[in-house]
Amino acid sequence: MTEKNNTNSYTPVIGLEIHVQLKTKSKMFCDSPNNPDETVPNTNICEVCTAQPGTLPVANKEAIRLGTLLGLALNCKIANSSKFDRKSYFYPDLPKGYQISQYDKPIAEHGYLDINVDGVVKRIRIRRAHLEEDAGKNIHPEGLGYSLVDYNRAGTPLMEIVTEPDITSAKEARIFLEELRNIVRYIGAGSADMEKGTMRLEPNISVRKPGQQELPNYKVEVKNINSFKFAEAAIEYEIQRHIEMLSEGQTPKQVTMGWNEKASQTVEQRSKEEANDYRYFPDPDLPVLKLSEEYISNLKTSLPELPAAKRQRFKEEYALPDEDIQNLVNWKELTEYFEEVVSEIQAWIQADRSKEDLLKLVKMAANWCLQDFSALLNAAKINPSESRITQENFAELLKHIADAKISVTAAKQVFAKMFEHGGEPDHIIEDLGLSQISDTAAIESAVDQVIKANEKAVLDYKAGQQKSFGFLVGMAMKELKGKGNPSLVNEILKKRLE
Ligand SMILES: [Zn+2]
Repeated sequence: MTEKNNTNSYTPVIGLEIHVQLKTKSKMFCDSPNNPDETVPNTNICEVCTAQPGTLPVANKEAIRLGTLLGLALNCKIANSSKFDRKSYFYPDLPKGYQISQYDKPIAEHGYLDINVDGVVKRIRIRRAHLEEDAGKNIHPEGLGYSLVDYNRAGTPLMEIVTEPDITSAKEARIFLEELRNIVRYIGAGSADMEKGTMRLEPNISVRKPGQQELPNYKVEVKNINSFKFAEAAIEYEIQRHIEMLSEGQTPKQVTMGWNEKASQTVEQRSKEEANDYRYFPDPDLPVLKLSEEYISNLKTSLPELPAAKRQRFKEEYALPDEDIQNLVNWKELTEYFEEVVSEIQAWIQADRSKEDLLKLVKMAANWCLQDFSALLNAAKINPSESRITQENFAELLKHIADAKISVTAAKQVFAKMFEHGGEPDHIIEDLGLSQISDTAAIESAVDQVIKANEKAVLDYKAGQQKSFGFLVGMAMKELKGKGNPSLVNEILKKRLE
């Protein structure tokens, strides 16, 4: 499973440390609001999270539940007994002078996450996942010559996830991150938004020399990465930098680098701390965290369908292309919407149509979700559930296309109107006069007129010129004001020309 025996080339060794902010009402150890969107500094604070003397932390039940759920979703063993420790260091955004974290007894250990790299499943082992609190934020206003501290984030709950160094490329790291983000969202543990900082990544990177079996004797950590794109770019940059140094007989320094977005490169920040610099010790203010087997197994049963299982089911039930499935599953709310449209389709199709018809409509639903609908949602910056198009009306429109009641081009107009104002497709089709003509008699009469008026084209066609047929179809469509059912027009014209 791991590529340890690659003797001919340099092999990257990548481990990831990821912080996921848990979506709770209040902070990890006090009842101050946990709101990542708060813009007014130092409003969501209290005596506990600003470390006033004599205050005591109380662990947040919901944070423990979400942390356990995430551990289970990552196939970890959940500890019946874990504890909180103090990680001591000084920084202005850390009012207590220590962070409450979990050191030698984390809540979750020994898990894994399977990722799909170009059709090949690769297992990335999870070393541990633990609960901790976040620090505040130091703000350095430009040109003022001093800094400010905002404690709104101080004490908000985090789950830190640490992988084994099983990742061997920047691309694998990105795929892992995307899958982790999906899982966090599917189980409702958080928004896992790298741009907004509710999911933060610190990869550590080193490179094995050709033929080297053991792990390299150094590793470089990278910070300040705030998108999947930058994660891939920063890791790739480091890999190339290490290979260059190693090939010249040098060893990269064990340091923490920062990703500089503008320069598209990493820059050295500081030397890396060792665990013993933090003087970890058990927090005497917090009891041992005990979770019963019953609590853990109840949470395990409550896990929803996870992204990997959903992808598998979409493949089996709907026979959609892999890329469509991936794109749907990557947007949780769109996937839910899509499935509701599909169940509307299933409700009326069962009676009179074949499985093949059903799959055709499901494919059509996926295409409309991923193309027109996604484009409109993205432009309006809203989620599917906030759109004015109900799942029922969405399905209805697809049915009209399948029944050739309207053309695809006309359907796009109707869809845009539905998105803008809501409403039923039938009414909009009528209002806009977009109904497609499938009345055979009307089409026959139009075709006959066209044949009469275009003798030369008819003769050319009979002499073997295929493009004259296209011309005649165009003329017939014009006669029908663009509303003729194209396949019927083709069929009738062909018959009349024989
Ligand atoms: Zn507080």
